[in-house]
Amino acid sequence: MTDTAIAFDNSYARLPAPFFTRVDPTAVEAPVLIAFNRPLAEALGLDAASLERDGAEVFSGNRLLPGAEPLAMAYAGHQFGQFVPLLGDGRAILLGEVIDRAGQRRDIQLKGGGPTPYSRRGDGRAALGPVMREYLVSEAMHALGLPTTRALAAVVTGEPVYREQVLPGAVLTRVAASHLRVGTFQHFAARGDEEALRQLTDYAIARHDPALAGTPDRALGLLKAVAERQAALIARWLSIGFIHGVMNTDNFSISGETIDFGPCAFLDAYDPEKVFSSIDRGGRYAYQNQPAIGQWNLARLAEALLPLLNADESVAVDAANAVIADYGHRFQHHWSAAMRAKIGLTGPDDADDLTLVRDLLSLMQAQAADFTLSFRSLASAIEPGGESDMLTLFKDHEPVLAWLQRWRARLTRDGVPEAERARAMRAVNPAFIPRNHRIEQAIAAAQTEADFSLFEALQAVLSHPYDDQPQLARFAEPPGAGEEVPKTFCGT
Ligand code: AMP
Ligand code: MG
Repeated sequence: MTDTAIAFDNSYARLPAPFFTRVDPTAVEAPVLIAFNRPLAEALGLDAASLERDGAEVFSGNRLLPGAEPLAMAYAGHQFGQFVPLLGDGRAILLGEVIDRAGQRRDIQLKGGGPTPYSRRGDGRAALGPVMREYLVSEAMHALGLPTTRALAAVVTGEPVYREQVLPGAVLTRVAASHLRVGTFQHFAARGDEEALRQLTDYAIARHDPALAGTPDRALGLLKAVAERQAALIARWLSIGFIHGVMNTDNFSISGETIDFGPCAFLDAYDPEKVFSSIDRGGRYAYQNQPAIGQWNLARLAEALLPLLNADESVAVDAANAVIADYGHRFQHHWSAAMRAKIGLTGPDDADDLTLVRDLLSLMQAQAADFTLSFRSLASAIEPGGESDMLTLFKDHEPVLAWLQRWRARLTRDGVPEAERARAMRAVNPAFIPRNHRIEQAIAAAQTEADFSLFEALQAVLSHPYDDQPQLARFAEPPGAGEEVPKTFCGT
């Protein structure tokens, strides 16, 4: 491999000492590349051909390319509501940054690259299952069109990791617009280090909101920008049935990307109270709680930024509260736009549109209808007689037919041609999502028989989630009897 396969251009490593600790990845026994994301490598301007051939050494951390400056980032976080002043990258190691083909700075990070000074009692490693889950789901999120960290590569290490059972070890190479989190700000706020807070704010602005650079109210501007990105992101999560599962403030990104795919999963049957994470016993991060948790996390960011918002604390608090309140409106705006689009309404808002949306959701909930397939089937049901696919998802047809009648009456009022509307609906209602039972099947095959064929098949089908792909229809199906996987594990 050429030494220039990755042209690093690092900025985080230039920040002062309290921001991170330099640490090299720990070499592993026998790395094997099990996934390499060639389109992403190309978009990042990397030497894709040589990395695809020889990447096992680089993406395991066994070989450091020139220009890499490995480090573990310091951050704090509220975990399930409890504040932990120092978490930090306990098993993630930032290799460095690159400027991608679009001119954007992107982090390249190994997850599972070995212990760091922030590992506490952890081993610094990742198990194969969570690495596969993150690879599949983060790439599916991207193909679905949501802001997300990406997966560049995955390797198995040839070493065991010890969890409740002995599992194969693996390393994921994650790409992010940055790894700045609400918890990064909380870390410096908790230490009372205003100077670091100021530096972090300017650094975040340079990376994510350069138009704010140098403006007097830039800390408030950053808070507003994060509020807007998170409101938009969480609305889109709900619109595709995604449950993040561990929305701690250390997993809440300043860039507005979905980050940390630990116990995440997608809804099959629609249930707003659905929780997958085995450790989320109180349902704090249930599907329908996500918007409110987003607001709670934003309030934690506002608290951390308070000293920078205004020298007069009561003025600062008022300004922060206004942003936090506005987040609620921004979320509503994004949610209603996304949900109206799902039922084919893109023109001027009608007062009853959201009632239509809510009534459909209630029907799905009452009859445990599959969330993804219910919406996907709607495009065929625009014309009376086209509802047969949809009706197979519901036990009691009568209320569904009544809803369809109201919906069609609404559609006629905005006069969009049927084919155009159906196309627009299929472009926002995916046929394929990373179904939890399929992910678990792929992990089981990989763990027990080193068979990665299902993992690869899922990558392929999920890269075009809005296309019908009739030959792969089995991957669109919800779990059959006995196939359902109701719980997910963080895998730490
Ligand atoms: P997470 O729940 O993945 O967001 O992780 C929360 C914190 O635990 C972060 O500080 C991680 O770096 C740390 N952590 C998770 N798993 C491990 C591990 N296997 N070894 C060391 N630290 C870990
Ligand atoms: Mg995390």
